[in-house]
Amino acid sequence: MAFLDGEVPPSWVEGAAFVWGCLWGSFVNVAVYRVPRGMSVVHPASHCPGCGAAVKPWDNIPVLSWLLLRGRARCCGTRLSPRYLVVELIGGVVSLGIAQHALRTMPAGATLLHGGAVFLADFALSMALVTAAFIDVEHMYLPDVVTLGGTLFGLATPGLRDMTWKDALLGAAVGYVGVWLPLIVGYKALRGRHGMGLGDAKLVMLAGAWFGWQGAMFALFAGAVQATVAAGVLLLAHGRIEEPEAVRADRAELQKAAAGGDVEAQKALDDDPLGTEPEEGFMAARLPFGPFLCLAIIEWMIGRDLIYGRLPWLE
Ligand SMILES: [Zn+2]
Repeated sequence: MAFLDGEVPPSWVEGAAFVWGCLWGSFVNVAVYRVPRGMSVVHPASHCPGCGAAVKPWDNIPVLSWLLLRGRARCCGTRLSPRYLVVELIGGVVSLGIAQHALRTMPAGATLLHGGAVFLADFALSMALVTAAFIDVEHMYLPDVVTLGGTLFGLATPGLRDMTWKDALLGAAVGYVGVWLPLIVGYKALRGRHGMGLGDAKLVMLAGAWFGWQGAMFALFAGAVQATVAAGVLLLAHGRIEEPEAVRADRAELQKAAAGGDVEAQKALDDDPLGTEPEEGFMAARLPFGPFLCLAIIEWMIGRDLIYGRLPWLE
């Protein structure tokens, strides 16, 4: 990028991007907990999950605080999930990847304003995707605020990715219909139930809105490969793929209400593909697909200049 030539060493940009990403990773941790519970992500400030004491700012430094306190709260010694550390590091690494992609691909003469806008848009999307991925792992649903909100954001900003409105609209349509038609309609007709959720279709639509039909195709392809590998590893390690705890708890609560004559609860159970106990077998395993799609979209975001051309069917 021209504005950096001889002025700011790239390693400074990369270091700043990593720290910036870790800081926002900390915020993603808050969102992963609060969004599914319908809580505000900004208020109240962080408090200890064990005793409820307010977390002091110097105990809330991303990555460092967790390591210095060895994963325990200072106030009462409650264990803090390693997920906090992992999500903060993911924020840092993804931010670094986006910065490197920008440094690699920005044309000479690009302004700081343009480079900053490209970085911030990609970064905002990536953090929303990381949030959605961890919510999907825990609760097996993808929030519309990420999938639909992210699609609209992508449709509004094609110029940041050297695309036209037509590319973005076509990509979104290919992404949604490409999942919805064969996988959902076809699978339901064959097996009488949903293969993937509509949330997955909306996520591939988002990929298309941001990165055109090639982005949507890559997300679906790489997402499927990664999900299959992960399912194999989980089966080898545990012998079976467990349904997430929160999904089981939600269903048990609805079943209890329905047994007590609650019509709304019974309707919710009937409408939800997760409303019945999971069947046995590899094909019926309840492994959320969203996290693998989110990973694939982020891979395309930061590496598409390197991937494109190695996959001839995307030309
Ligand atoms: Zn505490």
